[in-house]
Amino acid sequence: MKNRVPDILLIYTGGTIGMVKDYKTNALKAFNFDQIKSKIPELKLLDCNIETVSFPCPIDSSDMSPKYWVEIAEIIENRYDDIDGFVVLTGTDTMSYTASAMSFMLENLNKPVIFTGSQLPIGDLRTDAKENLITAIQVAATQENGKGKIREVGLYFEYKLYRANRTTKVSSEQFEAFESPNYPHLGESGVHLNFNTRWIKDEDQTAGLVVRKNFDSNVVVLKLFPGITEKVVEHMLSFSELEGVVMETYGAGNAPTASWFIDIVKRTIDRKIPVINVTQCTGGSVLMGLYDSSIRLKEIGVINGKDITTESAIAKLKYLLGLQTSHKDFKTKFERSLRGEMS
Ligand code: ASP
Repeated sequence: MKNRVPDILLIYTGGTIGMVKDYKTNALKAFNFDQIKSKIPELKLLDCNIETVSFPCPIDSSDMSPKYWVEIAEIIENRYDDIDGFVVLTGTDTMSYTASAMSFMLENLNKPVIFTGSQLPIGDLRTDAKENLITAIQVAATQENGKGKIREVGLYFEYKLYRANRTTKVSSEQFEAFESPNYPHLGESGVHLNFNTRWIKDEDQTAGLVVRKNFDSNVVVLKLFPGITEKVVEHMLSFSELEGVVMETYGAGNAPTASWFIDIVKRTIDRKIPVINVTQCTGGSVLMGLYDSSIRLKEIGVINGKDITTESAIAKLKYLLGLQTSHKDFKTKFERSLRGEMS
């Protein structure tokens, strides 16, 4: 058991949170993140040691990619033994993708990795950045029996702590930018910082951290809409390097019953390319076979994404492809929850 205060590593990758307004020009510009403690003096009052590391060229999260996922994971990997909790700051736009990916990449994770960001820059008078940052650090620093209270990848935003791979960005302007429609939040910050212990991953990993870095794969998201044509679907699914498909269907996993549509999807699966059925609905689950319009999908071997988010489905698909999972095992592996990403 440690008596010392926890050591927290703050990893800044970019996004609005690290910006200040130049009041002369009114434009937002990145500030030197090493000076974070002078921008938020309250950080010195927290009961932990805070170190910071920043991407040399901070990025807008629209430019986020597996290459940067690996950079974040390697920073965590290199400091895993001497740091008690990690806080990762990214732009909010693709935060759910990055945080979901991280949950798969960091195998046997046994320490807190908490993502946060903000809707307004840290230098803005009405900023949400301070609260998000301070509480995310507190979450990462919360210990129980000498270990991190959270031992999974979380996302803290606007008073709520979520399981990261269950989140989705739902608002581009409200401070409450994220939701976890299919899984309860893991904690809430009010007068006290309360954890919903029942929903937090509780198994203790004894195996050491393994970081999976192989994420380069050609996957597509095929979002169905009424009137989608054969040509479009054919075009999207016929290129030779295609390795996986996340198919966003209607409601409980329904898709057109037209034979041309089923034929194209079947041909794709026959090429040993996994096709995942994910619902376009924000909440709820795919139930293949509930309606006629999904029975054929089930018969031809479409994988049931259940209540996974699209963000998490892409990350899981890339992760399993990166592990060279055989086509034979792919369906079973995908349909099983690996990091609490599906019910
Ligand atoms: N465009 C920004 C980003 O995602 C928005 C944000 O930080 O919230 O990097």
